[in-house]
Amino acid sequence: MRREIFSDEHDHFRAEFRRFAAAEISPHVEEWNERGISDAAAWRKMGEAGFLGANAPEEYGGAGADFLFDAIVMEELAYLRAHALQASLHSDICMPYLTTYGSEEQKQKYLTKAITGECLLAIAMTEPSTGSDLASVQTRAILDGDEYVVNGAKTFISNGQNCDLVIVVAKTDPDADPPHRGISLILVEADTPGFERGRNLKKLGLKGQDTSELFFNDCRVPRENLLGQEGQGFKMLMEKLQQERLCIGVSSIASCRRALDDTLDYVKERKAFGQPIATFQNTQFKLAELATEVEIGQAFVDKLLAAHVRGEEVVSEVSMAKWWTTDLQKRLTGDCLQLFGGYGFMDEYPISRDYADAAVQPIYAGTNEIMKVIIARRLGLG
Ligand SMILES: Cc1cc2nc3c(=O)[nH]c(=O)nc-3n(C[C@H](O)[C@H](O)[C@H](O)COP(=O)(O)OP(=O)(O)OC[C@H]3O[C@@H](n4cnc5c(N)ncnc54)[C@H](O)[C@@H]3O)c2cc1C
Repeated sequence: MRREIFSDEHDHFRAEFRRFAAAEISPHVEEWNERGISDAAAWRKMGEAGFLGANAPEEYGGAGADFLFDAIVMEELAYLRAHALQASLHSDICMPYLTTYGSEEQKQKYLTKAITGECLLAIAMTEPSTGSDLASVQTRAILDGDEYVVNGAKTFISNGQNCDLVIVVAKTDPDADPPHRGISLILVEADTPGFERGRNLKKLGLKGQDTSELFFNDCRVPRENLLGQEGQGFKMLMEKLQQERLCIGVSSIASCRRALDDTLDYVKERKAFGQPIATFQNTQFKLAELATEVEIGQAFVDKLLAAHVRGEEVVSEVSMAKWWTTDLQKRLTGDCLQLFGGYGFMDEYPISRDYADAAVQPIYAGTNEIMKVIIARRLGLG
């Protein structure tokens, strides 16, 4: 079924990106998964080819295109299982902070290079002792003369090893009441003395992503590295989370499609009791149900993409999509793996990795429980 949100121009862009990805990304996915990190060179190629921040303003080197172009890149990378190259984190989660809240100087210095892939971005919210409860972050950025002195530890930070610039969520006023009013966003360049990368963490899935610890020890950054205004950090984060959660919904459905497509191929090939396992009614019903749910999820995500491009506030709906699509992805990859039998458990069958990769989707970008807290609150409950 043709997806009505996309024009011929979008389709053309998708075809171009597929050609690029086949040459520059697919051949490296295995190697990145083994090394636990992607190549900075690949990011540069993405930037040079115009696939980072298509949505970013033209005056800084972006294409000034609508967000659907970025969504296409997300979908294609998810379908290729190229999770190591998390373009959406760079282009659609981090970059918008610079676009919306950056000063002209910050945009010239960082945004232009982020678009070309020369300056890789990360955002550091989570700390060893706090994730969901963002207002409780302990990292501090205290003004001393013309510099902020940043102290604290962050963990689980995507792009942590590769990043050139980190958007750090820190308390500039640790005594603020309520605490979230003391939060600001500080830009820290990776070569700043006092900034250290910790371990590239070993994990269940997303093997090619450099999810890392970051440390700040008397790390001094110029006052001009404050993003937006002091004390507005929490508000800025809340404003940008709609897009972050929509990105998860987009990639979840694309990953579901890949797992489903591979399973459809497999069940037609594999025989048991002298016949393809596709002929068993259990296989047919299970795959028919999953295919139905993927279409329902796609319809919802497309509706939200269209609303987001129109600039509508769809926080509740995006929170619904985030929990529902990621729950589906977790269940679908498990059900598909089951249809592969023992082969599904083997590393050489990508479905086993799909199953492992799906596990994080309900956890990051706000856990699915937090999504339900948001929805419930907006339903007037509590
Ligand atoms: C692979 C990966 C990449 C990540 N990338 C980044 C990144 O780039 N930047 C970044 O800042 N963070 C990143 N994170 C961190 C991620 O956002 C956090 O793990 C997530 O927000 C949950 O926080 P937590 O791990 O501290 O869990 P906790 O907040 O300790 O939650 C533990 C459990 O309690 C539940 N819970 C908590 N509060 C409530 C509540 N009020 N009601 C009901 N249940 C609740 C949660 O839903 C969860 O099930 C990443 C994590 C992973 C695994």
